[in-house]
Amino acid sequence: MQVSTLRNVLDANDLIAKENRKEFDTHGCFVVNLMSAPGSGKTSILERTLGSLNGRLKAAVIEGDVQSTLDADRLIPLGVPVVQINTDPHFGGECHLDARMVRNALPGLDMDGIDLVLIENVGNLVCPAEFRVGEDRKVMVLSVAEGDDKPLKYPLMFRVSDLLLLNKVDLLGYSNFDPARFRANVARVNPTLPVIELSAKTGHGFQGWIQWLMREVAVASRGRGPCGEI
Ligand code: MG
Ligand code: ZN
Repeated sequence: MQVSTLRNVLDANDLIAKENRKEFDTHGCFVVNLMSAPGSGKTSILERTLGSLNGRLKAAVIEGDVQSTLDADRLIPLGVPVVQINTDPHFGGECHLDARMVRNALPGLDMDGIDLVLIENVGNLVCPAEFRVGEDRKVMVLSVAEGDDKPLKYPLMFRVSDLLLLNKVDLLGYSNFDPARFRANVARVNPTLPVIELSAKTGHGFQGWIQWLMREVAVASRGRGPCGEI
């Protein structure tokens, strides 16, 4: 794709993302775009997050996958509304969510009474970073199993994110992942990116992540006013 064509695609995407954002704001929904490589544990994090919230926030999930409803099926027992987006069948196997896909999913989501919409993006460390979908915050997940060099190899994802969840810290003793080297690599591409170390398997670190979510939602809703106005 030529640079100018790509620019136009991203500009068109941003317009739809702004419309999505307006719609989310109207309903008082705070929206997190959760991004990572495949297998880093986004769905496991969502499962434990929804359990840990324990009704303190009313959450809903938009689940993006190239194919299958495997991840969505794991979340339905948790009793939250889940809307599935499959990016594959008609759009040539898209490897990311874009604003149009999210817009098309919105009629399937009753946003009244929902405080928090968690969007699980397609597993990919590259292009999800380029496409806004109407989110308030971008949160990326990296797992210890992926290695501490990833900030240097996929800098854009680290640069655009508002928070990094370092998952699978229970594996630290079994890998060459060096937390100090990792933090130094993160600082080289995004010095202000906060990092929360956690384990979706053991629950370690979830208190900090849940506190972050609650705080962000509270600040956003104060800015919106009592009736959802901006
Ligand atoms: Mg998943
Ligand atoms: Zn893509």
